[in-house]
Amino acid sequence: MTTPLLETDNVTYTYPNGPAALTGVSVRITPGSKTAIVGPNGAGKSTFLLMLNGMLRPASGEVRFSGRPLAYDNRSLRDLRRRVGFVFQNPDVQIIAPTVEADVAFGPVNLGLSPDAVRRAVRDALGYVGLRGYEKRPPHHLSGGEKKRVAIAGILAMEPAVFVFDEPTNTLDPASSEEVMELLDELAAGGRTVLISTHDVELAYRWADTIILMEHGRVLACGPPEEVFSDHTLLAAARLKPPALLDLYNELGLRGVIDRGVPPKSVLEFTDRIERETRGRAPARDKTGKIYLCNADRIGGDELKAFIERSTAEHVGAMGTRAKEFANRERILLEYTYGVIDKCILKALIGEDSLIITTGGMIEHVHRRIGEYSAESGQALAVIAVQESESQRPVRVPSRG
Ligand code: ADP
Repeated sequence: MTTPLLETDNVTYTYPNGPAALTGVSVRITPGSKTAIVGPNGAGKSTFLLMLNGMLRPASGEVRFSGRPLAYDNRSLRDLRRRVGFVFQNPDVQIIAPTVEADVAFGPVNLGLSPDAVRRAVRDALGYVGLRGYEKRPPHHLSGGEKKRVAIAGILAMEPAVFVFDEPTNTLDPASSEEVMELLDELAAGGRTVLISTHDVELAYRWADTIILMEHGRVLACGPPEEVFSDHTLLAAARLKPPALLDLYNELGLRGVIDRGVPPKSVLEFTDRIERETRGRAPARDKTGKIYLCNADRIGGDELKAFIERSTAEHVGAMGTRAKEFANRERILLEYTYGVIDKCILKALIGEDSLIITTGGMIEHVHRRIGEYSAESGQALAVIAVQESESQRPVRVPSRG
């Protein structure tokens, strides 16, 4: 069995003059996992997360990092907090310096890095969260989503092994929430261990690979989202509702409309399943839409806008903070900013063309994901790279087959 990166053993905690916030909490967080601590307000989620980097100390029980019990002297705590990065729900609690740059530099400076290494860490972290150019801005003038990204950059600059986010999307509008969740996806795709707390079951179902369900300071269940969220009794005990997609799937299964197997995680998976199972097979489509793919680092805004004008792409989406910044700067209207690949596949399946704008390693990811979908579904989909030079020429579409 993999050694857990973080582990709690029978942890209890009571706030001074307060209620018992945690009673006998034992969980294991494996390296590289995406875990969501889910529960209603007051369940003990934040208290539990604060145990993980030593901000709170259990009254009884033990917290272990990499198999070793936490020590609570200053030096051990400093070392631990470098490895277990904590992003508070309210970024105003976390952001302390007068400029974005100084704030992100705070951690690396405290770690004793050289000025050059600090500059590199700040530049890389701001680039990662899509905030290059914000260096001299005072954080308190930024939007909620931007502040959140500054707070994330500050943690990222210390290169922790684990990222802990207390309610990462609370108080953010839908678009900013999507951006933050996409950032968490990128962190996890890069092999980091990510933990969030949330009461949003839809978000947790879609995002997490492990759910820890909490209520009244206890763990009610721990397991894969489709298992934990299919248990209505447990959810009722936690005063939560099942995710809509899973609820619908389970009801259709109970009525015998579709066979119950592994529940779908996305609209694309769900619609494919219904189509296959109600029609006996996936229908052979004689015309599918094309998915254009462009690297925002390799194309000018004017070229891309000219391409969009001329091409048949009816839908445009961007993946990753850099690509979204590029689109905003160039005033390219984005229809999709989250779940972009799936949405473009859904459009291709009904014969409509779309364009995905992204950068770096995500280009390969798009090819891979669409290739996997084509192989699994038997429905070959064309991904066409838009290159700077090519975008000057009339669009020629290779025929499939
Ligand atoms: P959640 O994050 O799930 O909303 P919390 O961990 O914040 O839950 O709270 C768990 C319990 O501890 C609640 O009953 C809450 O009122 C209490 N609590 C949280 N923080 C404090 C505090 N600083 N002082 C006293 N009681 C607190």
